[in-house]
This record gives sequence, C-alpha cells and structure tokens, in this order.
Amino acid sequence: MSPIRQNLQAITATIISTAQEAGREAAAVQLLAVSKTFGPEAVLEAVQAGQRAFGENYLQEGLDKIRAVQEAGAPALDWHFIGPIQSNKTRPIAENFAWVHTVEREKIAQRLSEQRPAGLPPLQICLQVNISGEASKSGIAPEEVAALAHKVAALPNLTLRGLMAIPEPAVEFAQQRAAFARLRILYEQLLADGLALDTLSMGMSADMRAAIFEGATIVRVGSAIFGARNYNKA
Ligand SMILES: *Cc1c(COP(=O)(O)O)cnc(C)c1O
Repeated sequence: MSPIRQNLQAITATIISTAQEAGREAAAVQLLAVSKTFGPEAVLEAVQAGQRAFGENYLQEGLDKIRAVQEAGAPALDWHFIGPIQSNKTRPIAENFAWVHTVEREKIAQRLSEQRPAGLPPLQICLQVNISGEASKSGIAPEEVAALAHKVAALPNLTLRGLMAIPEPAVEFAQQRAAFARLRILYEQLLADGLALDTLSMGMSADMRAAIFEGATIVRVGSAIFGARNYNKA
C-alpha cells in the first residue's frame, strides 16, 4: 500500500476514535489534506485513496498544482487557500479556489467578492483569528472578529462559514485545548449573535486531537499525510 494511502487511513481512524471520545459525530470532522511543497503526484495518490479536499499556502505553487492535477484527469476536487493573502493576488484565488481560510481584512474580502467569477458558487470563507497574541503575526485580534464577520457575511459572492486559527505550538494536550477553546468561544459568540456559521478550521498534524475535542469541523493535516516537508526543494 502507498504510504500516503496508509497515512490517510491512520488519520481517518484517529479522527473517528477522537470524535467518539469527545462525544461528537466523526462525520462532522472533515479532513483537509495540506499538500504544500508536495507535487501533483502526491495529490493524485491521495485522490486515489479517496481524498477530495486539499489545502495550499502558496498561490503560484497551488495554481500550478491545480492545473497539473486537472490535466492528469483527476475528479473534481475542493481546493482551499490557507496561506497569507497579498491584496494584489486576490483574483487568481477567487477564480481557482473553493475556500479561503485566511481572510483577516475587509479590503481583501471585498476584492475576493468582486473578483469571484459569476458562474461559480460563492467563495467559502473563514476569518483567521490570532488567538495566541504576540506569538503570532497572522490573523485578526479576537476583539475585532465580530465587526469583520458581519461585514464579510454581507458581501454578495462570499459565504462566511466560520473561523480559523493556527495557535502557537504547544506540547501539552491541555494547553493545546485551551487555545482551541478560545476560538470555539468566539465562534459560539458569533452564532449567538445571529450569524449562520458551521466551520471551525483548527488542528494540524501535531494537535489535531485537541482541536477535535474543542469542536473542530475541519482539521488541516499536512506532514502526517505526505511526510516531512522540504522547503528548499519547493
Ligand atoms: C502547513 C499548514 C498546515 C499543516 O501542517 P502540518 O503540521 O504539516 O499538519 C495546516 N494549516 C496551515 C495554515 C498550514 O500552513
């Protein structure tokens, strides 16, 4: 069996057992395979094993891969953009991705909405929140989330789905859970505020179980599926 297929099976088994432990439906936790730095052949191997949702951080690399995988005859896939967004690079994101997890400014959201092609469904959006304070540069401050969420929810060609975070790495399970709990509480406040959300994008290879315990609906897993990344090669 290919290592990628084997890893996907192991992660799926972990998602199922963790959801069970946490008293949640395993079907409520979607696995996003983060394929950054890996080539189209790795994506195709995961597709062979049944994976359909893939995350990319770097725009040009992602666009090249989407094209290569399409040309190789893969079935329709859901591509999620999960990297930092430059305001002059919003158009190709709006044209080629189904989801964007890393919206943190109104101006970026406006551009994505304006540039989303008319024939496509709305672009699915998560706001990236900085839940680790000084330790992270990316994401909006928790106290700014509600105002931005209401503005993004009103844009015509976007669907605001929820929140995303990358907490600072923590070894202890309890510490991991505490960070994810902060995102969950913000999310619950938005729901109470009347926004129709269904997505908490949180948890990676090293802290996926803690995220599932705190309500993650999308876990973004890279190295545990594809192996260690080599950034020099990318
Ligand atoms: C790289 C990356 C991941 C996956 O990280 P792993 O530790 O390899 O699972 C998830 N989310 C984001 C935003 C990333 O940049």
